[in-house]
Amino acid sequence: MRKHRIAAVPGDGIGPEVISAGLEVLQAVAGLDGGFGLETESFDWGSDRYRKLGRMMPQDGVDSLRGFDAIYFGAVGDPNIPDHITLWELRLAICQGLDQYANVRPTRLMPGMTGPLRPELARLIDWVIVRENSEGEYAGVGGRAHIGLPLETGIDVSVFTRSGVERICRFACELAMGRPRKRLTVVTKSNAQRHGMVFWDVVCRDVLADFPELDVDFKLVDAMAALMVTKPGAIDTVVATNLHADILSDLASALTGSLGNGATANINPAGGLPSMFEPIHGSAFDIVGKGVANPVGAFWTGAMMLEHLGEAAAAARLMTAIEKVTENGPRTPDLGGQAGSADVTRAVLAALGA
Ligand code: ATP
Repeated sequence: MRKHRIAAVPGDGIGPEVISAGLEVLQAVAGLDGGFGLETESFDWGSDRYRKLGRMMPQDGVDSLRGFDAIYFGAVGDPNIPDHITLWELRLAICQGLDQYANVRPTRLMPGMTGPLRPELARLIDWVIVRENSEGEYAGVGGRAHIGLPLETGIDVSVFTRSGVERICRFACELAMGRPRKRLTVVTKSNAQRHGMVFWDVVCRDVLADFPELDVDFKLVDAMAALMVTKPGAIDTVVATNLHADILSDLASALTGSLGNGATANINPAGGLPSMFEPIHGSAFDIVGKGVANPVGAFWTGAMMLEHLGEAAAAARLMTAIEKVTENGPRTPDLGGQAGSADVTRAVLAALGA
C-alpha cells in the first residue's frame, strides 16, 4: 500500500483545533479509498515553545522536515509576541528553507456561501492565484539608518532575479494550461516601478513564449483589484509578485465569504522536498478553546495536500463531502451558523460515508 508521511505543525491559536479535525478527516479518506495510508508525526512548534525555550522551533527544525512527503500547517501568531518573530522564525523559515517558492491560492465561492458581490458576479469567481513566495518585495533586503535622528531612514529593496521570476512564471503557466480556460493574467506595476517590475514583465514574456496556447493578459495591480470586483469572470489563473499577490489574495478571500474556508499551498515544484499546506486564516485567539473554529479551510487544505501527493480521487471525494456540508450545514458561527468544529467534522465524515 502507498504510504505518505505527513509532518503536522499545528502551531498557535486555533491551529491545533483545525489541524486535529483535518487529520481525522484525512485519515478517514485514506481508509475509505483503501489505496494509501497516511503516517503522521506532529511537531509542537510555535509561540508556546518560544515562551519556554526561546525558539519557535529547534535549530534543526527545517532539516527534520526534509524527509516528509508534505507538511500540514495550522496557524502561527500570538498577541504577545511580535509577528517578525512568530512568522519569520517558523512559517517563513520553513517556506524559505524548503524553497517553497510558489504559493498557490485557489479561490471560489463554495456552495451555500455568499460574499459581498452580487450573486451573479460572485458565482463567476473561480481563480487560482500564484504568488511568488521567495523574493520580490519580501526579500528582506534593506535596513535602517540614522536611528533616533531627524534623518532616520527605513529602506526595503525589492529583489527580482531572472531565475526567480522565470520559475514562478513557468509554474503559473503550467498550472494555467492544466485548467479548462487556459487563461493567465500576469499582474505588474511596470508603469510606476521602472526597474524591477519592468524586468518582471520582460522575464515573464520570455517564459510565455513557450506557452503559445495560453490566453495571456498583463494587468496593472490597481486595475487588477478593480477587475476582481467588477468582472470576476474575466480572470482564471493569476501570477503576481510576493506583495501584489499577498494583497490580491486577501481581496479574493474577502470576496468569497469567510476567512475560515480558504486554503493555500506553499509548493516546491521541483519535488524532493516537502511542500506545505495551510488554511489561510491565522491563529484567531478570540475563539481559541471555544470549539467553534471553522475547520473547512483546514479540510480544503487537506484536499490540496492529497492532490499534491498524487491522490486525486481521494482529494475529489473529500472536496465533494466538504461542499455538501458548506451547502447544507451544519455551519460554525463565522458562517452564520451555531455549530461547533466537531459538528462540522462529523458532518464531513458522514458525507464521506466514513
Ligand atoms: P494572525 O495574527 O495569526 O494572522 P488573527 O487572529 O489576527 O491571526 P485571523 O486568524 O486571520 O487573524 O482572523 C481574523 C478573525 O477572523 C479572527 O479573529 C476570528 O474571529 C475570525 N476567524 C479566522 N479564522 C477563523 C476560523 N477558522 N473559524 C472561525 N473564525 C475565524
